[in-house]
Amino acid sequence: MPPGETDIYEYTYDMFLSSIEGEQSEATRFSEWMDAVEADGRYAFEALRQGAQRPEVEVVRTSGLALRLVNLASYNYLGLGYHPVVIEAAQAALARYGLGAASSPVIAGTLQVHKDLEASLLDFLGLPGRGVSLFSSGYGVNTGTLAAVVKRRHHVVVDRSAHMSILEGAQLSRASVHYFNHNDAADLEAVLEGLGPDSGRVLVCTEGVFSADGDLGNLGAIVPVAKRFGAQVLVDEAHSFLVAGPGGRGVCEEHGVLDQVDYLVVTFSKALGGVGGAVIAKREVARYINWYARCRMFSCAIDPAVTAGVTAALRIGAGPEGAERRRRVVENAALLRRLLSPQVLVGRTESWIVPVIYGEERLTLKLCDWLQREGIDGSVMEFPAVPVSEARLRLFVTADHTAEQLSRAAEVIIRAAHHFGFARPATTA
Ligand code: PMP
Repeated sequence: MPPGETDIYEYTYDMFLSSIEGEQSEATRFSEWMDAVEADGRYAFEALRQGAQRPEVEVVRTSGLALRLVNLASYNYLGLGYHPVVIEAAQAALARYGLGAASSPVIAGTLQVHKDLEASLLDFLGLPGRGVSLFSSGYGVNTGTLAAVVKRRHHVVVDRSAHMSILEGAQLSRASVHYFNHNDAADLEAVLEGLGPDSGRVLVCTEGVFSADGDLGNLGAIVPVAKRFGAQVLVDEAHSFLVAGPGGRGVCEEHGVLDQVDYLVVTFSKALGGVGGAVIAKREVARYINWYARCRMFSCAIDPAVTAGVTAALRIGAGPEGAERRRRVVENAALLRRLLSPQVLVGRTESWIVPVIYGEERLTLKLCDWLQREGIDGSVMEFPAVPVSEARLRLFVTADHTAEQLSRAAEVIIRAAHHFGFARPATTA
């Protein structure tokens, strides 16, 4: 490569963030970079799905290349997004209410279907005295809730691996933000101790399943520590609601702390197969959030078809079919981990998110392109969502993947690991 030229595959997320200025040269350079990758035929992101997020999908890349892929890139964990009963419920709501809610939920956008979903969520969780605040995105649940319930002079204490929406909510709130080491209850204790006895309102934020590593939140230890210090607790069960726990009520249920969590965050975009989310909190707190979460107050309510579809998905997830789908997704994830872990680094995963850590960001585009051409699609995560040089493919396993599809995917990924040099060294027994 001639000196002074950048290798287009040296891409990292922050590559174009260094020159934000009046001329918007970062936007021009980003666009030129994208054109160069496109011209090289390697742009694998945003490949257009030609149908529902099933275990195998037809896609058309932005270059026009059509491919059939084993879909490990979509978090439709229980396959409910294309379930016929869910689609039927959404169609009925579409026919009755039309396309959109056409108003803020606080003004005129709260429809009967929204109240039905709220009641179904409360009934499913079985927590007395709670209320629900619905949002049109899971991201908005965290930013809106945090900014509504903590203020300047309060403290937010966040697990270092927490999702961007929690971090952004903490920043929006203008409270002091502190971090504790990932899943480390002793470190959380030290941070809370350090705030002193007159710290005012303190909110500890963590998750059910962490999406970068697929590991579970250490909630059985974290929640009691927070409570001992009089802190409130927010648990984001985006990737675990309806999947984890004996009844699908998440990792909070699995760890026996469901009734101690002050803000239980669920998203409808994962296991429920739709879009949107909710926070479950004390009834009066949920009511307050309804009004004071700005991204809820100043934004349109979730559309009726999705709302009714999510309610139907919840009904299925709460019944015997849900239990059977949970059993299958756990079994499928265990199979994929078993196939991959001797050959590639899968980290500390213990859920339906199986990461394959390939390390170098410069491999991302070539690897994604190669995998798609071999018939596999995964979801990439790199800096700043994970540390530098710990880039990874996240494989989202669903209840509907077959053992054949998972074996095929593992075989291709292991071949990629040898091709790109991230296979684990052979162990000498
Ligand atoms: N929380 C977590 C932990 C997430 O991983 C995500 C997105 N994947 C969100 C919140 C945002 O949810 P949504 O995509 O439904 O807006």
